[in-house]
Amino acid sequence: MNQPRDLQREFYDMLMESQYWLPETMLAYQRSQLAQLLRHARANVPFYEKRLDPVFTRTGDIDWDRWHEIPIVTRKDMQEHRDAMLARELPRGHGATGTIETSGSTGMPVKISINRLTAVAANANRWRAHRTYDLDWSKTYAARDGYAEAAEWPHGQSLGPWGPKWDERALQGNSYRISRGTDAQQMLEFINRTNSAYLSTGPKQFHVYALEAERLGMESRLDCAMTHGEGASSGDLEAIRRVFGARAMETYSSKEAGQIAYPCRLGKGLHINAESVLVEIVGDDGKPVGAGSSGRIVVTPFVSTAQPLIRYEQGDTALAGGSCLCGRSLPMIEAVEGRSTAIFTHPDGRAVSRMLNESAREMLRCTFWQIAQVGPQHFEVRYVPNDWATPGDEASVDALYRATFFEDSQLQFVRVREIPLTAAGKYLEYVNEWDRAG
Ligand SMILES: [Zn+2]
Repeated sequence: MNQPRDLQREFYDMLMESQYWLPETMLAYQRSQLAQLLRHARANVPFYEKRLDPVFTRTGDIDWDRWHEIPIVTRKDMQEHRDAMLARELPRGHGATGTIETSGSTGMPVKISINRLTAVAANANRWRAHRTYDLDWSKTYAARDGYAEAAEWPHGQSLGPWGPKWDERALQGNSYRISRGTDAQQMLEFINRTNSAYLSTGPKQFHVYALEAERLGMESRLDCAMTHGEGASSGDLEAIRRVFGARAMETYSSKEAGQIAYPCRLGKGLHINAESVLVEIVGDDGKPVGAGSSGRIVVTPFVSTAQPLIRYEQGDTALAGGSCLCGRSLPMIEAVEGRSTAIFTHPDGRAVSRMLNESAREMLRCTFWQIAQVGPQHFEVRYVPNDWATPGDEASVDALYRATFFEDSQLQFVRVREIPLTAAGKYLEYVNEWDRAG
């Protein structure tokens, strides 16, 4: 009799070795994964029936040299062709499907269907990053996530061990999910009461907690701030170090593609989880840019078979990395630069092309917003409340805004029925209405 296979453990064990594979071994592995995905998508997903033609030869082989001819999938495709993007059938063993939603920068939510293997890959990639950072799975980990009633302060939702279940020390660990509705003071109290060593949330949120801890005179310590969702600024990292005495581990992930990359402790940048996702950093021609150049991030997660994403434009720009001095052969992203649309300026000459973290949308309880620079240091946040009777948490967004853009900005919040479109019929989230010349 065969032992039942522990796919989770097998994949994790593989990752701990494969990060040191020769580049040609990795390439062969990626191509075998991609080939399965391409064949599955072409046979079972209407959206991809013709789209993949460039890479299929007449005999049904795959011509990898023509990979870049596969059209890039956009967020708009996700919205307009959702049904056609769903697989009629899943490969054996890929497991049940669930649906998650992401709002993204446009405020137009997209739905993504996921399968069991995406969770297996995400867990294994997370654990590899934890190991790289010497995180201790026997300690307590808390993640600020969602709005589930069960995860509300003061108790949060206890989810038990958070490391691999075959690791004896990890079995002593505990983890919590704590609602996004938790305010800064409650969160600081929660960290202390649960003796959490690790907290997972966005870097701006950490920054807000740090400023609040200082303002309230509360002391909280963490071993490691696990940040994600956007790049942490040096100001964020400094605040995390100063207030929590913590180092930071900044991973790059998305709801669409799972765990995409994790930071190297020696080299500069993030190692791509190349066993789970193909990451291309492409220029305007859709072809990869060289190391040291900027481009758009295009992802192809290998095990997303319920709704395959083949060359999906993630919506972020990044600086392509080279090889790393740590000995891992996983390709590198030198830096995720963010979405480079908003240009706000400061009278001292600084210009910022960041975006406000998505959590602000939740704090304001709104779906649509527009942030306008209306004076040298004056900004207006116009938002459409989900519910006019329930006010949004404008004070938190104010703090978040100043942590993201300029410390000395003055914000005014305006609740509106709708965000007016531009003359060209475009809905803009970030506008500069301040004419410096005028
Ligand atoms: Zn490295």
